[in-house]
Amino acid sequence: MWIAISEWLGDIVSPERCAACDEHVKPRRIFCPPCAMTLEARTTDAAVAPYRYGGALARAIVRFKYEGRSDLARPLGSLLLRAAPMFEPLGVDLVVPVPLHFARLADRGFNQAALLAAPLARALGATHEPRALVRVRDTSRQADLDRTSRLTNVSFAFAARDPAVVEGKRVLLVDDVRTTGSTLRACAAALTSAGAGFVHAIALAFAEDF
Ligand SMILES: [Zn+2]
Repeated sequence: MWIAISEWLGDIVSPERCAACDEHVKPRRIFCPPCAMTLEARTTDAAVAPYRYGGALARAIVRFKYEGRSDLARPLGSLLLRAAPMFEPLGVDLVVPVPLHFARLADRGFNQAALLAAPLARALGATHEPRALVRVRDTSRQADLDRTSRLTNVSFAFAARDPAVVEGKRVLLVDDVRTTGSTLRACAAALTSAGAGFVHAIALAFAEDF
């Protein structure tokens, strides 16, 4: 499986420009050397979020989400793919991105988590189900709230669209940035109450300042 993923990575990951600053980079490099130096792998809990949110990775994610750079899904998705071998032995059936509220989706035009989830699903031989969960409340203004309000704000924000899709399935949840983990927990609760067999979660980056 690891070999298959590496070969597949080699096919698609050849961005010619740094994902954070647009500097020219060598083939298969995601960041230019100065930006790459700011990338921090996390030493614990690596299966949940392999990188610390900050530096070039934060710049790349902001460009991806808020500056219309959906093309950065490819290099950022390849960073997330590095964690795929950890999930391969679990036998994942469904890869489910954290959904955006429909109003936010209309604004942005794409769900960044779904763009990251698609190549991960392919690498794991799982089905990508971007519509498995629905966001029933718009909780995207999390940044305006204090930590406690944020934790309660998302508790009942998600629901399984059709329980038959997730029932008995082994699910891997995907988000771009994990902060308190409350969003992933709320999504996992919605999937579990709809009958999912198990739910694991991964985010590209972990923001420890929140
Ligand atoms: Zn750069």
